[in-house]
Amino acid sequence: MPIYEAPIADFRFLLQEVFDYDEQVAGLPGLEDATMDVVLAVLEGAGEFVREVLLPINLPGDALGCTHGPDGVHTPKGYKEAYATYRNGGWPALAGDPAYGGQGLPTSLAIFVRELIASGSMSFGMYGGLSQGAYRALAAHGSDALKLAFLPHLIDGSWTGTMCMTEPECGSDLSHLRTRAVPASDGSYRITGTKIFISGGDHDLAENIVHLVLARLPDAPGGTRGISLFIVPKCLPLEQHGPLPTRSDNGVTCVSIEHKMGIRASATATLAFDDAQGWLIGEAHGGLRAMFTMMNSSRVGVAVQSVGVAEISYQNALHYAQERRQGRAPGAAHSANGERSDAIVLHPDVRKNLLTMKALVEGARALYVESAMALDIRVRHPDATARSDADGMLALMTPVLKSFISDCAVTVTNLGITIFGGHGYVHESGVEHWLRDARIVPLYEGTNAIQALDLVNRKLTLDGGKTVQAWLAEVAQQIQRNRDAPEIGALCAPLEVALGQLRSTTALMQDRVATDAVEAAAAASDYLRMFGLVALGAAWLRMAACAQAARGSEGGAFYRGKVKTARFYMQHLLPETERLQHGIRAGARAIMDVDPQEL
Ligand SMILES: Cc1cc2nc3c(=O)[nH]c(=O)nc-3n(C[C@H](O)[C@H](O)[C@H](O)COP(=O)(O)OP(=O)(O)OC[C@H]3O[C@@H](n4cnc5c(N)ncnc54)[C@H](O)[C@@H]3O)c2cc1C
Repeated sequence: MPIYEAPIADFRFLLQEVFDYDEQVAGLPGLEDATMDVVLAVLEGAGEFVREVLLPINLPGDALGCTHGPDGVHTPKGYKEAYATYRNGGWPALAGDPAYGGQGLPTSLAIFVRELIASGSMSFGMYGGLSQGAYRALAAHGSDALKLAFLPHLIDGSWTGTMCMTEPECGSDLSHLRTRAVPASDGSYRITGTKIFISGGDHDLAENIVHLVLARLPDAPGGTRGISLFIVPKCLPLEQHGPLPTRSDNGVTCVSIEHKMGIRASATATLAFDDAQGWLIGEAHGGLRAMFTMMNSSRVGVAVQSVGVAEISYQNALHYAQERRQGRAPGAAHSANGERSDAIVLHPDVRKNLLTMKALVEGARALYVESAMALDIRVRHPDATARSDADGMLALMTPVLKSFISDCAVTVTNLGITIFGGHGYVHESGVEHWLRDARIVPLYEGTNAIQALDLVNRKLTLDGGKTVQAWLAEVAQQIQRNRDAPEIGALCAPLEVALGQLRSTTALMQDRVATDAVEAAAAASDYLRMFGLVALGAAWLRMAACAQAARGSEGGAFYRGKVKTARFYMQHLLPETERLQHGIRAGARAIMDVDPQEL
């Protein structure tokens, strides 16, 4: 079985020393209970759940996968029991509204827990993660009656939630959506259509499943403006649902499930809605706005999943590299213990791979933790400007978090295999499935290419471009603050170069958005990556400055590791911005001059 320790020390460092969680989040009205002791105790508990309950079922679950038969979808052995433990432990209720039975802890804390769960089993985390998204969309846009009917069940975990957008002809482009909703005389709607790739669309973990479904009303305008959001339970009547129903009695049928490359214990279902009863959430034709609440939360969730799967891959690679002995490492002190070969961690190439993994995982955690805190601040801060600043920052960062961090997860889990050598390629080693699992994160919740277009076309123009300028200025100030600090000052020069490149490329992209859509689209993914690299650089500078300040204290190796990883990142990974800038400046000609028949 793989090793895993919840990264509590890193969370403590980030929350206490880097981001001042006590002041920034536990200081918010209604979140006073979320003291550092409580937060760390919750994370310790989650870590224990992961080690004891999820890790033992993860690899077998990958081999078995979900199955679909006449009596519905079955999750692999052990998943039902694990879900019961998750429910009984109160995990789904963590950040729920106490008015509906929740524990009222910060949304950010529930997000941190999701990282740990993803380390234990990304598949398992899908069920609870989508339920949290459904909870948030309903809590933000549902009527009081709908909230009362559904939220307590999502909070206590007896029901799970899904997000039903994708259809056979409608993936990235929702304007082709065909599912129909017809008003019924009792104020509800009848939904008919087919949805594909629905995560958690059917399973045997909970008593009921509530689907958040995008559909068109009869009088809907064409395109994405004519889409509405409905809540459609698998089982009716709501008050009398029995335990663990295996057949839908609301006209929602699981037609099949996908046989996938990874996350094989997460059921990805094709669902047929046949005159299924549902209720409108939010305004008619305003479904995308409501669904965006769920999608944005899910996109941050994808970044969090990415860090979770990358973290466990890193921990195991590091452990293996310290144990596995092969060859003589140049420059290593030999023969003290008579060994004929050195631990592979002593080889420079292996060390570089491990540092790359550490830099990406811990840097990405810092990025998502700050954004997760903004999710609490934007709702609860007493000051309207602080709320709107947090909202703007989140809007800007969401596509960057989703795409850049999901790409990092693929890089990290791939390097994890490299460090295990040929053993990493073998299923039983329990390493390769993390790469297979991670391969979905750049694809779902809007592919990374779509996120890049969102960043370039919508987020760079937020508030007339002021949001991105404020973020760039904040990074510049951080550099300014640290420029003369011993040790840390040396990290500022490479970040300043990269920031300068990003600043001028941002202006170029804003100009292209206004004048040439092809040029803007051709460079969007490279631009997003450049943005992500600089954001990670800023996160590492901030972490290194805090670590340097604490270096003399207990935990010296932890802090030294932070400062040295920051140096590695600035010297070896950040300069990729140079290549990206070059490609972006070169323009779209070399790409678009090639006709499709010439490919
Ligand atoms: C395991 C899994 C779980 C999923 N879970 C859910 C779920 O719970 N709910 C749900 O609704 N959906 C879900 N999906 C669907 C997922 O969100 C879609 O697969 C994804 O949005 C991409 O759509 P598509 O597969 O149709 O690809 P397409 O839209 O056909 O895209 C194909 C390729 O073309 C590119 N492309 C398309 N349009 C553009 C453009 N305008 N500019 C640049 N490039 C473009 C894409 O980036 C991609 O590389 C899931 C999918 C999988 C595989």
